[in-house]
Amino acid sequence: MEYPNLLPRFLKYVKVNTRSDEYSDRFPSTKRQDDFQKQVIMKDLEELGLSDIHYNKKSGCVIAEIPATVDYDVPVMGYLAHVDTADFNAENVKPIVHENYDGKSKIQLGDSDFYLDPEVFPNLRNYKGKTLITTSGDTLLGGDDKCGVAEVVTLAEYLLAHPEIKHGKIRIGFTPDEEIGTGAPRFDVEDFGAEFAFTLDGAAPGKLDWGTFSAATFALDIQGVNVHPSVAKDQMINAIQIGIDFQNQLPSAEVPEKTAGREGFFHLTHFEGTVDNARLEYIIRDFERDGLENRKNLVKEIVAKMNKEFGTERIKLTMRDQYYNMADELAKHMDIVNLAREAYHQEGLNEINEEPIRGGTDGGQLTYRGLPCPNLFSGQENMHGRYEYTVLESMYKAVDVLVRIAELNAEKNK
Ligand SMILES: [Zn+2]
Repeated sequence: MEYPNLLPRFLKYVKVNTRSDEYSDRFPSTKRQDDFQKQVIMKDLEELGLSDIHYNKKSGCVIAEIPATVDYDVPVMGYLAHVDTADFNAENVKPIVHENYDGKSKIQLGDSDFYLDPEVFPNLRNYKGKTLITTSGDTLLGGDDKCGVAEVVTLAEYLLAHPEIKHGKIRIGFTPDEEIGTGAPRFDVEDFGAEFAFTLDGAAPGKLDWGTFSAATFALDIQGVNVHPSVAKDQMINAIQIGIDFQNQLPSAEVPEKTAGREGFFHLTHFEGTVDNARLEYIIRDFERDGLENRKNLVKEIVAKMNKEFGTERIKLTMRDQYYNMADELAKHMDIVNLAREAYHQEGLNEINEEPIRGGTDGGQLTYRGLPCPNLFSGQENMHGRYEYTVLESMYKAVDVLVRIAELNAEKNK
């Protein structure tokens, strides 16, 4: 159905710059996220009359409650969306609304030389007759994740206006610093007070994420021996060359640029050095926990073998796990995934796209911290740059799904 305040609310939110900053040492990483939380989100929630509205300082989150409309016990559920936007110009965002798109034309982004072209972005062809919201070409849109933010607030507005809709207690939360991965580790699961939740941070209608990569990172610090090249024979040990030799022992086809779908990889993200010393940084990704362990072991074996040949620890290896595939943990809570599946079906979304994401989500971290948390679509497309757009009808559908999940949760526990 249509929610008349959703579009104006979304347009208001995207105009506020809430970009996060991975080089900041404050938390949340930027003050502008806090300002948005306290001056915009909290105010809107107060106007709508939600309960228990508060700012949780530890986690940088605004949290609120939609009270239950049934008098029996229903497991408390939650909805989450992140307020920060990605690492791209977010100064002076000027969203443009294009009504009744013809499903085939190029869309000029404001007066800029940039176009949204269905040849390049074939998803556009799905949106004939729909209302698209785009950038004006020089900023991102911030639909990632202002779509989710506006949808959760609109859900609250709708449910408070319709007490005849039967649902249990719903907690809602607005989180900072998703794009730089520092928000979820600080999330206050206890204060949020839900048994399970959903993030709204996915792409087009039908997308349902409950599988992610498992991830680790490692670095090699290599100590060489630098002597003058004229007398280098049998004495010089070039740290750069050691780095190259290491890299060449990894499977050359298992890199991001040569893998897709369920294939994992090793990814050299940084390499700097001199003859004297060098540093290499990598990330490892795999959908299987065994696969991740095998990759880690391969790295350890290569390093051990090389150090043995040197007769000393020239290569120092540091390695740590980053996150695990949320599917492994959610497998114990499939009723939550099924709730979303059922809601999608009831809202006419019969083709559910459950392809695991080649990355992580806040929900993955939260799932391992005791708040099982699949990720729902929010209608954002082409995230993280000037080609970002969203479709108003996708956003309406997202709110429909949120209402439906809440109703199903109450029905199932009657
Ligand atoms: Zn996002």
